[in-house]
Parts: sequence; C-alpha cells; structure tokens
Amino acid sequence: MGLLSFRGGVHPPHFKEPTSRLKVENAVEPKVVTIPLSQHIGAPCEPLVKPGDKVKVGEKIGESKSFVSAPVHSSVSGEVKAIKPCLTPSGEALCIIIESDGLNALHENVIPKGDIEALSGEEIKNIIREAGIVGMGGAGFPTHVKLSPPPENKIDTIILNGAECEPYLTADHRLMLENPGDIVYGLKAMMKVLSVSKAYIGIEDNKGDAIGVMEEAVKNERDIEIVGLETKYPQGAEKQLIYACTKREVPSGGLPMAVGVVVNNVGTAAAVAAAIKTGMPLIERICTVGGKGIKEPKNLLIKIGTSFKEIVEQCGGYRGDIGKLIMGGPMMGLAQYTDEIPATKTASGILAFTPDEASLPKPRNCIKCGKCVDICPAFLQPLYISAYSLNNMHETAEKYNALDCIECGSCSFICPSKRPLLQSIRVAKREIIAKKRKTK
Ligand code: SF4
Ligand code: SF4
Repeated sequence: MGLLSFRGGVHPPHFKEPTSRLKVENAVEPKVVTIPLSQHIGAPCEPLVKPGDKVKVGEKIGESKSFVSAPVHSSVSGEVKAIKPCLTPSGEALCIIIESDGLNALHENVIPKGDIEALSGEEIKNIIREAGIVGMGGAGFPTHVKLSPPPENKIDTIILNGAECEPYLTADHRLMLENPGDIVYGLKAMMKVLSVSKAYIGIEDNKGDAIGVMEEAVKNERDIEIVGLETKYPQGAEKQLIYACTKREVPSGGLPMAVGVVVNNVGTAAAVAAAIKTGMPLIERICTVGGKGIKEPKNLLIKIGTSFKEIVEQCGGYRGDIGKLIMGGPMMGLAQYTDEIPATKTASGILAFTPDEASLPKPRNCIKCGKCVDICPAFLQPLYISAYSLNNMHETAEKYNALDCIECGSCSFICPSKRPLLQSIRVAKREIIAKKRKTK
C-alpha cells in the first residue's frame, strides 16, 4: 500500500536522530515522588491515603466517583509525607508526596488478571479503568471512557496512533521497536471491549524500522493492518489519522466515534497489556528527554511523580542557559516555568531549548499570503479567526469555526510574518467555550 496522508499540514525538521537509535533506559529510582491527583481531562481524584500511611508500588492512592476520571497509583513503596497543592505541568493541583523506601515492594493487587480470551469485554474495560489508564499521546483522556461509546455510535474500527509526528519525540518509536508484542496484545484487548474486527496501526514513514517490526508482530493477525503514513505534521492528530487510514471525515464539531472509529496511542495499548498481564497500573512511562539544551538526550522509563529536575540530571543536566522547557513536543507541548514539577502520565517528552532556539521573532503585519489557509488541516482560515480574536470579536471567530481548531500550531509555524496565530485562536476558543458554559 502507498503512503497515506491528509490534506494540509507542514514539514518541520524532525530532530529525532539524537534519541531514535537509543534503547530505552530505566531511570534512576526517585527518592521522593509527587503524584498529582489530577493528571488528565476529567474530574480530579480524591486522596485514599493520609500522611503517615505506608504505601506499595501499584497501590491505588486516589480515585473519583465521576465516570470521566481515572484513578492514580503509587509508583514507589514508602511513606506518604504530605498531601498538598503543588505546581504540576498543567498548573497547581493537589498532590500526594511519597518518600520511597527504596524497596519497590509490590501491592497485593498487582497480580495477573487473566488473558483476553477468558476475560469478557466488560471485565477488560474494568481492568483498564482500575489501572488508571489514560491516553498517553496527548491530553490524557481516560481510556475506559473512550471505550464506552453511546449505543447510537456503532464502532467498527480502532486505530492505534504510532505516527509520533511531533519533532524530537521518539518514545513511541522506541516502544514499537522494543515491545511490539504488548502493543498488539493491548490492541486486541481493546478490540474485544468494543467488539470490533478491524484495526489499523498508523506509523509515519520516517520510522521504517518500526513499520517492519510491527508488520512482523501482526503477521498472523488478519484483522490488524499496519499503515505507512506520509511524514507530515500533524499526522497523529485524531481526525487526520482517521482520514489517512479510512478516508472517513469526522464532521465539524464531531468526535471520532461519529464515524465509527476510536483512536488510541501505541503507549496506551502497551499500558493495557501490562494491566492485564501483570496487573501493574499506569505508574511509569517512556519519556524522551531532548533538545539542544540537554547534554545527553535519552529515552527514559520514568516513574510518574519523578521531578523534571531529577530526570534532566540523569541526562547529564542542562547545556548552558535554558530559554524554554517544554513537556511534550515543541508544537503542542506545554511550556514550563520551572523544572521543579512532577512527570505525569502524559509526559511523552521533556525538551529544553537554548535561548537562541526559544526566542520568538517580532510579529509583523499579515501580508495575506494565504499560506496558513493552505496548510490548516482543519480547513480553517487562521488569519481571520486570529484577527477577530485579537479584536475581541469572539462571536465572529466562532462563525469561522474557531472551535474546530485542533491547536496543532501549523499555522504559526508556516506564517512568514510570525503572527501569533495559535495563541490568539486559543484565546478565542477559551472565550467561546466560557460563554457557552455560562449560557447553559
Ligand atoms: S488554525 Fe488550528 S488547526 Fe488550523 S493550522 Fe492553526 S492551529 Fe492547526
Ligand atoms: S500565513 Fe501569516 S501572513 Fe500569510 S495569510 Fe496567514 S497570517 Fe497572514
């Protein structure tokens, strides 16, 4: 099959070479972990422990009664020292601070849960929920919620996202090379939950070795197809990935399930496999630590709750002054004010850039070149939405479908006048959503 793609998109430099050939290393054990009770889209958890309690690896320490939420677990064994608000990658949140005893004693619930042949779809979904699994490629949407579509949305296809289209990040690439079996196992488990008989794993063609390894891993699986995708940003965005793999178009304002598809990340599938096979909840993940500001870029298997500072120290520390620190990729990641924050379930990358790389050129006037319109993968007119946003005309921005913006940043990247397109469109979206909530 030829390479599949979507309309629009940009080609930022990949910068993946420093880590794409490096095997994933185990990070050094943290002495203290700070585990946020809110690490995903959805209701924050309530603590299930109190200061002074002893906890073990994999023990549930926070949960919420809300359906759209995922519990959190201890990534170390040791003692709860405090429960207090701390700075996290997405702002201040209540956190459980645990001092490790260095023993890594496993909690009694960390035991194999059976295999997917014997378990029912409902049982698998419950294992996924109890393991606190969320989307590991982006916003961290609870996986059990994605696997619970309303009855009117008949799902017939699952797509695993192995595109990893953000520059610098190679965590998913290494996972596909080093643990393809768990990705396939987790995918089959999710297929059983949704009773679907067709799945695709989409991988960009700059990861030819991963395409080869994954093809070998599914050679006996008639229902799973590896799809080679054109290397183009944002190939891993849900709607673009669905179009590339199935040619189905998610309608404006709609979700993937509107076209019968559920999309998950390859890391999420591997986490599902671990939860079933070993009973281990989501307490660790692969994280790419890179950027010119890091002395020895690596892919590390980090424990959730480890501080960015400690993780960077394991990579030789910073190279000179740092202009920008980001969690995630450079296009859609979250810029951080400090490295004294804990890694969360969605920490796909920790990137440090030098002041030169981070400096933004002064915006100039729009020259109406139309490049932002040509490349917008959501078929929007970023120059107008941005202009209306900057003039506080949010209702007009809404008429221009601002809410369909997937915040990929391609328009800002391509704009020759370096207009603050994404930033202003984000403001418009925030204002429109706030107004809608108020009206409700
Ligand atoms: S308007 Fe939104 S979706 Fe379109 S290119 Fe800009 S950030 Fe991406
Ligand atoms: S790319 Fe920049 S300069 Fe060109 S039309 Fe869009 S906003 Fe204007």
